[in-house]
Amino acid sequence: MGTDNNYNKSSVLIVGAGPAGLACAIQLKIKKPDLDVCVIEKGPGPGNHSLSGAVLEPEPLHTLLDAALPGWQQTDSAKDVLGQRVDKESIMFFAGRKFSLNIFKAIKLAKLLGLGVGQMDGSGHYIVWLSKLTRWLGQIAGELGVEVLCGFAAEDVVLDESGGAVCGVRLVDQGLDKEGKESPNFVEGETIEADFVVLAEGCDGLVTERFIEKAGLQRDCPQLYSLGVKELIKVSSEQYQAFKDSHVVHAMGYPVWTPVAGPAMFGGGIIYPGADEHLAVGLIVGLDWKYHDFNPQDALANFKEHKYVKKFIEGGTVVEAGAKMIPEGGYYAIPRDPGTGAIGKGGVLIVGDSAGFVNMLKIRGVHLAIDSGMKAADAIIANLDNPSAAAVSYTKLLEVSGITKEMRIARNFRQTIARLGPLFGMPISVLGGLLPKFKVEPDYESMTTARYRLKPDCSFDKDTFTAMAGTEHREEQPSHLEITDSQICMTKCTPVFDSPCITFCPAGVYETVNEQVKPANPSNCLHCKTCQRKCPFDNIRWSCPEGGGGPRYKRM
Ligand SMILES: Cc1cc2nc3c(=O)[nH]c(=O)nc-3n(C[C@H](O)[C@H](O)[C@H](O)COP(=O)(O)OP(=O)(O)OC[C@H]3O[C@@H](n4cnc5c(N)ncnc54)[C@H](O)[C@@H]3O)c2cc1C
Repeated sequence: MGTDNNYNKSSVLIVGAGPAGLACAIQLKIKKPDLDVCVIEKGPGPGNHSLSGAVLEPEPLHTLLDAALPGWQQTDSAKDVLGQRVDKESIMFFAGRKFSLNIFKAIKLAKLLGLGVGQMDGSGHYIVWLSKLTRWLGQIAGELGVEVLCGFAAEDVVLDESGGAVCGVRLVDQGLDKEGKESPNFVEGETIEADFVVLAEGCDGLVTERFIEKAGLQRDCPQLYSLGVKELIKVSSEQYQAFKDSHVVHAMGYPVWTPVAGPAMFGGGIIYPGADEHLAVGLIVGLDWKYHDFNPQDALANFKEHKYVKKFIEGGTVVEAGAKMIPEGGYYAIPRDPGTGAIGKGGVLIVGDSAGFVNMLKIRGVHLAIDSGMKAADAIIANLDNPSAAAVSYTKLLEVSGITKEMRIARNFRQTIARLGPLFGMPISVLGGLLPKFKVEPDYESMTTARYRLKPDCSFDKDTFTAMAGTEHREEQPSHLEITDSQICMTKCTPVFDSPCITFCPAGVYETVNEQVKPANPSNCLHCKTCQRKCPFDNIRWSCPEGGGGPRYKRM
């Protein structure tokens, strides 16, 4: 990165060092080694804010590694990160705390018949820890000459006065005190100039959403979200062997929906094996849940108590935990320029989860993140002399790629379930592309006064969960969580819904203080942003805290 008039400058500036951002950076350096490429990341290191399943479809990663690191298969890192593959898959249906049925054969049949749900079959795919994979990609990027700057949070894209061409990205101020006044170590958030900006912030990116608004990009349907809560558990050798290190489990039904009566939420559970006798156990729930007292961690506790799951983890020790949102709206929720259809505008390109590239038929997005990052890089290289054409060029590359094909096949899945509920929506979604585009509301509008009846035997310990995520922020900084209008909490939300943010925030950030709901513990925040998307009155805003804060995932 060069300096010019005290402003840092880079030809390409990438916001977010997740798989999408790093794949873009690596591809740029493969294609044009002398190009200035800078990646800024709010976490203290690459991978610290990465949390996923993760069953990884190999092809895009292989393409990237073949070009970046010939002979990569023989490296210790590859053996460490990509050492496990799926050779046994169970797709379970749970009813109540005891009953389970493996429906994997039905999924195999659906695959043979070419039905969308057949895509759930992940045989031969890698089983990875996303934070480890991301760390490795960060290292490869660094070795190719990419500036990966961790501990720097971006706040906004800076456009020229006409609002057209991109000038760069402004960083978050560092060193403000709780009241927002400058402390002695204050450093104003500088603007890093760039010809191209790639937004790779992951789900519900702050800068991305601001840019979408500023540039007038539109979605056909509102983005829908789910929250994944996950624990990494050290189990006994016997339990680990009984589970098998190449076995992955996806479960539907209890405790998020039951076929006849009871909860009717979209989602399900996962169990994945890791190295050294660890099992990752998680639960993913669509944010369009209607139960005002629902806490996804309660559902995780129920899931862990199910007879099928319990036998593998009972007596184990939770060594890491975390929570993160997934963008679920699919094809119709991709933000586009209404004039050109571009996923971005001019020299600003949106990749990975920030664009909503997750295939909800199988809840997989890492391969699409990597692939879209590489496509963005190719478009930038093809338009080095004409940055304003890059977003259109990128979108053309996507349209003829597997990414668009996958996203189109899955295009009605989540909306069908949002509209018809899991009981009817799941079977009808088999019709896939033949279904009409269902109109859906933003998730927060679905809250009702109904109660979640499957409360676990003991309440969930959020403090321990947060400690296991290793999250921390400098305490003496302004809160990055804002309740826009506290009157709404007092007069509308608390009397009707009993302040659901206090219950559903996985980190226990919200509390009632002097009869007012407040983000009392912002330093516990896991950056999942569920509060911003599930407050029933759309009354909470999440902004980036100073860089370097947040969770410190190592193996999530
Ligand atoms: C519980 C769960 C299970 C999943 N399971 C699977 C699975 O099995 N297989 C699969 O393929 N996918 C899975 N996914 C989805 C997958 O994790 C995502 O699709 C993928 O991580 C997207 O990559 P990304 O690079 O776009 O975003 P991310 O991985 O989210 O990376 C974005 C990065 O940008 C940084 N950032 C954000 N904002 C800023 C800012 N303003 N300034 C600086 N840095 C910023 C973040 O800290 C982060 O490091 C799962 C997701 C979850 C939550």
